[in-house]
Amino acid sequence: MFESLSARLGEVFRRLRAPGRLTEKEVEAGLREIRQALLAADVHYGVARDLLSRVAERAVGERVVESLTPAEQLLAIVRAEMAAAMGGSAAKLRLSGRPALVLLVGPAGSGKTTTAGKLARHLLKRGRRPLLVCADPQRPAAAEQLATLAARVGVPFASAVDDPVGEVAAAADRARRELLDPLVVDTPGFPPGVQPDPFLGELVRALAPGDVLLVLDALAGQEAVRMAEAFLPLGVTGLVLTKLDGDARGGAALSLPSRLAKPILFVGVGERPEDLEPFEPERMADRILGFGDLAGLAERLAEAGGEAAAASAARVREGTFTLEDFLTQLEAMGRAGPLDQLLARIPGLGKVAQEEELERELRRARAIIQSMTVEERRNPHIIGASRKRRIARGSGTTVQEVNQLLSQYEGARRLVRELGKRRLPPGWGSPAR
Ligand code: GDP
Ligand code: MG
Repeated sequence: MFESLSARLGEVFRRLRAPGRLTEKEVEAGLREIRQALLAADVHYGVARDLLSRVAERAVGERVVESLTPAEQLLAIVRAEMAAAMGGSAAKLRLSGRPALVLLVGPAGSGKTTTAGKLARHLLKRGRRPLLVCADPQRPAAAEQLATLAARVGVPFASAVDDPVGEVAAAADRARRELLDPLVVDTPGFPPGVQPDPFLGELVRALAPGDVLLVLDALAGQEAVRMAEAFLPLGVTGLVLTKLDGDARGGAALSLPSRLAKPILFVGVGERPEDLEPFEPERMADRILGFGDLAGLAERLAEAGGEAAAASAARVREGTFTLEDFLTQLEAMGRAGPLDQLLARIPGLGKVAQEEELERELRRARAIIQSMTVEERRNPHIIGASRKRRIARGSGTTVQEVNQLLSQYEGARRLVRELGKRRLPPGWGSPAR
């Protein structure tokens, strides 16, 4: 996700990070490079221009914070303004009405049906009892696709393909009787330039859904704006941006909220039902800037790994994790799904090549940590040369491998501490208004 943009911005900030104060010239040159990076990432030029003029304004106006270098301050401002450009704070589903109605609309192939299944799972995990409804009268296979997804995520399904408006109303009645809430309604897509079927407008008028989510494909980049036009008159309340997993550039995520004046509520990061994330502008800015996404990682690990992993994920977030936590995290990663996806979020850990290789490393890490005493696991700094030899013998590894594990752990711990420090002083995270 955002690999090419992150790489370019990382380069800009690395150069700025040279010791000493930044001159005005250096700041200017830095901003110019950031602008080029944004444009190369397909960020709309107006969005990039506004973003950078606010950054420039603040970079001059802000008072110097002692604990940050000038380059870090600039980074902090860019981060905050990037988050502001993406909507500032996280937007949520309204879920108003009884039952609440969530209507998914959008161009053909943008990911509506997949998102319907993901959203049902998301809501189910948060204690709701959603009903998945297919209101796509155009494709006979559509109902089947959604019914299969419903079975897979374990939620009830209703078809509304013959008389969409009447049947969705009937599904709402059923939902009231069976205490299902909300209805997640999938609709047919339309190619760009083709007006959506009038029944969509009728559906919106008759049932007044509290949420009308426009599902857009991140890979369409700026094209998505044009594709969105036909759907905006339906009273779109928010956006879902899909296929972010394949988006190296990030232009859509950065541009769409301001260009369409709609918040992004969720992003799709893969094809499976669990590959949906609530959109959080600050977190997204962190990812774009290449900080990785530890908060997101911790959440996924908690979901995949049960209680022990959840407690340990909390310590990861706080930057106080032990070698035992390190092992719990490594093991939970194995259960959390595509490892590369998870690892890619930890800067520096991004390049563990093969799953097999990782499996081997995991086994070794487990053996090494299990050969340590409880005290050693909690205070690794007491592990000197003779303890290392004992641990290597006990785990069937070499001292070199023990060293390697300790330095991986130390690296992860340092990283977490660094990221913790970047929690900026009050006021830094919010946009200047
Ligand atoms: P619809 O026509 O809008 O209903 O689109 P579908 O839900 O049928 O999705 C079209 C294709 O996009 C399918 O192959 C999905 O698996 C794929 N897809 C949807 N969302 C994502 C996503 O977030 N990431 C990836 N990689 N693929 C996705
Ligand atoms: Mg569909």
